[in-house]
Amino acid sequence: MEALHKKIREEGIVLSDQVLKVDAFLNHQIDPVLMQQIGDEFATLFAHSGITKIVTIEASGIAPAVMTGLKLGIPVIFARKHQSLTLTENLFSANVFSFTKQTESTIAISTRHLTSSDRVLIIDDFLANGKASQALISIIKQAGATVAGLGIVIEKSFQGGRAELDAQGYRVESLARVKSLTGGVVTFV
Ligand code: 5GP
Repeated sequence: MEALHKKIREEGIVLSDQVLKVDAFLNHQIDPVLMQQIGDEFATLFAHSGITKIVTIEASGIAPAVMTGLKLGIPVIFARKHQSLTLTENLFSANVFSFTKQTESTIAISTRHLTSSDRVLIIDDFLANGKASQALISIIKQAGATVAGLGIVIEKSFQGGRAELDAQGYRVESLARVKSLTGGVVTFV
């Protein structure tokens, strides 16, 4: 997606050979126009997949997920990372090791929002080693629902997440595929 490539080239900051910072438009400040274009792109890619729900993780997946849900006309659920006094019902949950924080946490979705008849599109901001995606897949399977595919805003193809999802047979659509961050330069696939 050219608008996203341009934004990454112009406003992305390479923090190391492994980590790309995109706080200017996705992870802190959000560019709503770009988010809408991203949502439209995912909606087009998954238009004929019979999607009934979108699932993402708080916080950075929410913006692209909501724009996709708006275009497809379906609800968006974000898995919660923190215990909440209002989240008292039964939960589907999974552990996820955070690549950026290097800590393990539990994410959860209320059993009220996912059922076995749902066909789910997973949306996330980044795909690195795939831990977040695998945790969401686990939650969707606990509900007996079907994973229809994954929509990723920025995939770092040099890490293992994409290959594992491919091997498991999932459809993965990434709008930007980063081949390398070596030398402080972003190279796309
Ligand atoms: P994974 O679970 O695939 O290893 O990592 C995906 C999650 O880690 C994403 O949801 C994102 O929050 C975070 N992440 C992984 N790599 C990067 C990165 O290079 N930059 C930023 N900003 N977040 C990342």
